[in-house]
Amino acid sequence: MIKVGDPVLINPRHSLKFSRKIGFVEVILLDTLLNIGVSFDDTRQLYYFSADELITMEELDMWNRLGPVYCRYCGKDITGQFSFLCEDCEYPIYKEE
Ligand SMILES: [Zn+2]
Repeated sequence: MIKVGDPVLINPRHSLKFSRKIGFVEVILLDTLLNIGVSFDDTRQLYYFSADELITMEELDMWNRLGPVYCRYCGKDITGQFSFLCEDCEYPIYKEE
């Protein structure tokens, strides 16, 4: 579980702007979807994320220990994307037939 004060990495899948930045959890709200307030610098400005957009240091360590990661579906190299599926396989674009 993510706690106030924890360092977190923003999942590059969810935010290009904050991709791979390390921030610190400042507040956790209970009643909204984007409920975790994270600050990135001394201004303490808060940006809100949902829990699945954040990678804890434990998760980061786990991904780093895995070494190269390949998409479980198509085999594409997706090392460093913190996912077991590439973007194409995770979010397929359905074509009308
Ligand atoms: Zn794939």
